[in-house]
Amino acid sequence: DKLRHVDSMTTLPSRAGKIPKLNALILGEALASEEDHLIIPSQDFSEQAHVSSPAEYLEMYRRSIEDPAGFWSDFASQFYWKEKWGQTVYSENLDIRKGSINIEWFKGGITNICYNCLDANIAAGHGEKIAIYWEGNEPGVDATLTYKQLLQRVCQLANYLRDVGVKKGDAVLIYLPMLMELPIAMLACARIGAVHSVVFAGFSSESLAQRIIDCKPKIVITCNAVQRGSKTIYLKDIVDAAIAESVRNETAVDICLTYENVSALKKESTKWVEGRDTWWQDVIPKYSDTCDLEWVDAEDPLFLLYTSGSTGKPKGVLHTTGGYMVYTATTFKFAFDYKPSDVYWCTADCGWITGHSYVTYGPLLNGATVIVFEGAPNYPDPGRCWEIVDKYKVSIFYTAPTLVRSLMREGNEHVTRYSRKSLRVLGSVGEPINPSAWRWFFNLVGDSRCPISDTWWQTETGGFMITPLPGAWPQKPGSATFPFFGIQPVVVDEKGKEIEGECSGYLCVKSSWPGAFRTLYGDHERYETTYFSAFPGYYFSGDGCNRDKDGYIWLTGRVDDVINVSGHRIGTAEVESALVSHPQCAEAAVVGVEHEVKGQGIYAFVTLVEGVPYSDDLRKSLIMTVRKQIGAFAAPDKIHWAPGLPKTRSGKIMRRILRKIASKQLDELGDISTLADPGVVEELISLADS
Ligand code: ATP
Ligand code: MG
Repeated sequence: DKLRHVDSMTTLPSRAGKIPKLNALILGEALASEEDHLIIPSQDFSEQAHVSSPAEYLEMYRRSIEDPAGFWSDFASQFYWKEKWGQTVYSENLDIRKGSINIEWFKGGITNICYNCLDANIAAGHGEKIAIYWEGNEPGVDATLTYKQLLQRVCQLANYLRDVGVKKGDAVLIYLPMLMELPIAMLACARIGAVHSVVFAGFSSESLAQRIIDCKPKIVITCNAVQRGSKTIYLKDIVDAAIAESVRNETAVDICLTYENVSALKKESTKWVEGRDTWWQDVIPKYSDTCDLEWVDAEDPLFLLYTSGSTGKPKGVLHTTGGYMVYTATTFKFAFDYKPSDVYWCTADCGWITGHSYVTYGPLLNGATVIVFEGAPNYPDPGRCWEIVDKYKVSIFYTAPTLVRSLMREGNEHVTRYSRKSLRVLGSVGEPINPSAWRWFFNLVGDSRCPISDTWWQTETGGFMITPLPGAWPQKPGSATFPFFGIQPVVVDEKGKEIEGECSGYLCVKSSWPGAFRTLYGDHERYETTYFSAFPGYYFSGDGCNRDKDGYIWLTGRVDDVINVSGHRIGTAEVESALVSHPQCAEAAVVGVEHEVKGQGIYAFVTLVEGVPYSDDLRKSLIMTVRKQIGAFAAPDKIHWAPGLPKTRSGKIMRRILRKIASKQLDELGDISTLADPGVVEELISLADS
């Protein structure tokens, strides 16, 4: 029973038999159908990969489901544990009908994730290897840290934190841009058993205050200002306002440790609160560069992180140490086919889960060389990413569809003027990647040579859940493919009944995995009702998906965003992908609006490629594209020109605001302060009838 969906995938090897005939497709020929073709990793790639074939994957996957304890213990054993976990490798209750939700992995095991990221790699002889290449906002401003140097910097900060009274279990709030000090601060907390809560340094003072009030940190770590693109952002002023707001809510912050980011702002020009504020550079270098570890239980909290807030009020997701460590390291290694000679760049900010699991912990646990980039990907021009790729010989490049689409819009010459020869694996996360964006990324950026790991996962899941293993099987542009080891995704209908074979429905997960979140901070009840009550017995992701005849999984967006047109359930991702495949459409977001006849109608916001003017012909041609690709029932009823789309600070389209604009409920826009650029809302409203 457990292996039902594994069996549905055993069709893969036989499909793989047809592969040679499809080889022409790899060369990037225009394709008639969006879905029905496969992109096959080259033989050279597959041969050198950790997992080289569907059969090899299936064998490992089978074991991970049949014997999770044995499977994960083997991976856990690759790390240092001061004391091994107890007899029970994991215990879980994911069924709300049987009592409180509870997940534990490696309980009783004593370890430290900072030790495994740094000390252990140094002990293994990699002390002189580059841990971090730091690239500043301005081209030519950069720095490096070896594993040994990184450990020294982490120890100095850890000693300071201890000295000012931060103890195991205390919360530390980090509000820093992508300086090396950001991962350093995270690791320093982990070293002494403190719980870090990183807040993306683009959030407003209100959002920051909310989080301070929620987690009550002993100390806030920030910097005075940062230069992002051509803008200077005065972070310390934002922190000052947030702390003042917190104090009004009976939450005092005793210490504000401030890094002087000289390239953005001098000490002398920084506002200062005597007694509370301390300059990082004045105190930290005085501390010893070795620091004793605080050994913690596998189930002791590692960090607290708020979700991006795409669907409303952010949730304070809590992750613990041991399972998270094993899971992020293992997923990183397999999903990117990581090898010690790789140079790895993930463009996400450490303020998001992607920056936790796949800038900091996952890569460092593997002893990888990581790029930390302070700047904006289109500054000073849209070629910056590829300039960085060439400069550091980046071999694994992991980013978000929003960035792919925005660079696509700027034209190919920004890409083709760089070599990009070093690249071998690409990755995508954050939203469904539209097949046309996938293809551009694959054909142009990766020269049709680099598999794309389209990783579906969430803040809550800690690590990848559904992801290609490059080298293992053919890819379909836009599909996140198959589950990672140990993950049992199921598709259920409205009643929570599992649906088999080719289908569409709600994406849930059966059984726990080591990287799963353990609670919502301070609100276990909300944890249970948000994720485990809708479909008892399962973890409910909130996302919808389709599973095709070959077992590939296609994410269709959040179920709250599903549109029901005359009884057809249509995922936002499907219509958006059809629109984006139009050569003049750069980006699209669709929402449902009330419709007298159809129940719901489709309302599409469309951003055009740089320089293309709005016209009625173009409108018709966009609608035609959707009719052709999906069907007449999915044709948008309205195309609304959008110079920009409202996005969260992590770059995701916020459809809840678009729904209000589409239905002209302008007084119900709700909180728009978490938008990256609240100005786009006004712009959209003014273009409603054009
Ligand atoms: P909130 O839960 O506060 O609304 P959020 O869901 O955007 O915010 P994250 O945990 O950062 O916060 O994002 C996870 C979500 O991002 C997933 O549930 C899914 O909707 C989307 N997502 C992430 N990766 C992919 C992917 N590869 N394909 C499709 N969707 C993805
Ligand atoms: Mg979410």
